[in-house]
Amino acid sequence: SASHQRVEVGGAAPYRIDIAPGLLDDGARLAAHLRGRHALVVSDSQVAPLYAQRVRAALAAVRPDARLALHVFDAGEASKTLANFSGVIDALAALGATRDACIYALGGGVVGDLAGFAAACWMRGIDCVQLPTTLLAMVDSSVGGKTAVDIAQGKNLVGAFHPPRAVIADTASLRTLPPRELRAGFAEVIKYGAIVDAPFLDWLEAHADGLLAGDDALLAEAIARSCRHKAAITERDPFEHGERALLNFGHTFGHAIETEQGYGGLNHGEAVAVGMVLAARLSTALGLADAADGARLRGLLRRFELPTGLPAGLDPAALVARMRLDKKAQGSGLRFVLWDGAGKARVVADVDEAAVRAVLQD
Ligand code: NAD
Ligand code: ZN
Repeated sequence: SASHQRVEVGGAAPYRIDIAPGLLDDGARLAAHLRGRHALVVSDSQVAPLYAQRVRAALAAVRPDARLALHVFDAGEASKTLANFSGVIDALAALGATRDACIYALGGGVVGDLAGFAAACWMRGIDCVQLPTTLLAMVDSSVGGKTAVDIAQGKNLVGAFHPPRAVIADTASLRTLPPRELRAGFAEVIKYGAIVDAPFLDWLEAHADGLLAGDDALLAEAIARSCRHKAAITERDPFEHGERALLNFGHTFGHAIETEQGYGGLNHGEAVAVGMVLAARLSTALGLADAADGARLRGLLRRFELPTGLPAGLDPAALVARMRLDKKAQGSGLRFVLWDGAGKARVVADVDEAAVRAVLQD
């Protein structure tokens, strides 16, 4: 049906992404990836009460022989720690998980990253099925094979490349997602249009109301199109030596805003929305793109109720200092993903700091 979309991801370890309402109850689909007898569902304190029992029951119905366990940690980015990674490892050990065990990562990007990293490490790598329940996880974190935890020195500093065995995205689960989290996910969706798919921006503009209202067929289409872009880019550049950097459009500014504001400020998607507007403005200041492209992008972000201006009280000099420290800013100068207009992004090194400051002060 129109609300069931599939994306095939190629590369060294190919897998499939299925997107449709109701998939968390599809025991046969979930169990198809359980090669052995041990299954560990990993989730957080927010998502587990909503969905974990359904996933367990669906699996158990098809695989009554399986040893199923549920491991839950506190919801939130603060939980993406080595301590909670150890907790997942302990749960696998307690289950007696063998090398044919499977982890089902049920939740947003925090669960996906942490559980995926545990799957990468247990017995040097077991299967992980991603069951993303946030829009961001469906279009971004569950695809591409990056897993990680945070340490005091920074986010995602400890991790591994470990592609999932499958991604199963139940669009109906987005109905319980806080609206602010849903909108934040759309910032990443819009990002794909901005960097490689200008017609997608028109499509998003035309369907904004239905998407924000949670129309399953529209959501499935937007998620599939986003996943196709992420999959294509990561297939061509799995270890982030080149093209994959384009996925960071809006993120150099965004990360600086996030870290400078600290907890309680803009969330990731919101910061990326502002960051994309700034990246577009910087592109125009450097003579790469027309101001009209930036204005259209800003209009689309507003349509999805995302912020497009720098939050009050942020010091441009402090933001520039943060960007200099960004781990993705290799070499000496500031490095940005800029664009030549909708759908045409590129990496630009050694960007003039004065131009960046001017854009921030605008
Ligand atoms: P998240 O996992 O913290 O989820 C956001 C909040 O929504 C949490 O409180 C969660 O409990 C709750 N939630 C999740 N699904 C829900 C549902 N269906 N109903 C109700 N509540 C629900 O955050 P996120 O935005 O999904 O992911 C952010 C993380 O993803 C970050 O740690 C980031 O580093 C990571 N990430 C990884 C990659 C990658 O390539 N691996 C890419 C982008 C982001
Ligand atoms: Zn992002």
